[in-house]
Amino acid sequence: MLRGSHLKLTEDPHRRLNVLTNEWVLVSPHRATRPWRGEVSPLQTASEPAYDPSCYLCPGNTRAGGIRNPAYETTFVFENDFSALKPEVPNARLDVDGVGLLVAESEPGICRVICFSPRHDLTLATMGLKEIEIVVQTWVGQFRELGDRASINHVQIFENRGAMMGASNPHPHCQIWATASIPEAPAKELAAQRAYRKLHNRCLLCDYVALEQRQQVRVVCQNDVFLALVPFWAVWPFEILVCSRRHIGSMNDFANHDAPQLSALLKQVTSTYDKVFGVPFPYSMGFHQSPTDGVDHPEWHFHAHFYPPLLRSATIRKFMVGFEMLGTPQRDITPESAAERLRELADGSGR
Ligand SMILES: [Zn+2]
Ligand SMILES: [Zn+2]
Ligand SMILES: [Zn+2]
Repeated sequence: MLRGSHLKLTEDPHRRLNVLTNEWVLVSPHRATRPWRGEVSPLQTASEPAYDPSCYLCPGNTRAGGIRNPAYETTFVFENDFSALKPEVPNARLDVDGVGLLVAESEPGICRVICFSPRHDLTLATMGLKEIEIVVQTWVGQFRELGDRASINHVQIFENRGAMMGASNPHPHCQIWATASIPEAPAKELAAQRAYRKLHNRCLLCDYVALEQRQQVRVVCQNDVFLALVPFWAVWPFEILVCSRRHIGSMNDFANHDAPQLSALLKQVTSTYDKVFGVPFPYSMGFHQSPTDGVDHPEWHFHAHFYPPLLRSATIRKFMVGFEMLGTPQRDITPESAAERLRELADGSGR
């Protein structure tokens, strides 16, 4: 890397290529103040009650639509009462005057909510491994069921955690939006993975994971099946990419030990996050799995993204504004330096 170059990745402003999307990120390491020298408050224990009578996700409570939740004991799946998508919309495309300036398409789809636990006060970081494994098995079942539908070509499982990410309810839950079209972010990754495979006849993320395992500097933690790292092109200060270490396309390819190993890695990543500033770390996370469009996708490599907004303390977040909104995303602390901090905390030696 960078042979014959005088570019210093730890000092010089530079831009890095996100090979998964073919987008660039601007890195300004000379501006970095090591963020963990900011205030770290002692780790807060959950202040939420185990049951909240006003929570629409707690067992036995009534939701906004008047439906009462069952007295569920593990995970609980239901159709979103305020779905952004509907399964029955006419298949139609609009192109006013046929000049390609006013274009619209119908988007049939399904939105579901999965409560991870009946307990209002738990998170992936504080749930037991067996309980997280039930969540993973539920994801596997949902991905298969929705992906098998002819009208569904992509299944997006995602979790928004914390008020900072707009999650209005602390009850541990995630959402699934299953759509007829492949959404923007995975569509870019599909194009990049396809192009790489065409050029090299290998998988982009298999090659990338092998390279990161050789270099080690951006690896946060790993187990037999999964690896968590701060990607070379990370935009968010403590962004993490989770990849399967062997080539699989989706949860449909999970073998027996994969769900428990994914549960363990998710618990390790989320509890490491909670140690960074001593608060429950807000984030958006989601899995990127092969499209369910009935076509083989040998290029697609199973992975998950964690996008946490916190930058310097429990209250100072990164905003994507100004140059980032109008030009290119930018970061100060290098991904290597963020990975080093996360790795120390994941090992338990960082505090
Ligand atoms: Zn609740
Ligand atoms: Zn692969
Ligand atoms: Zn992705």
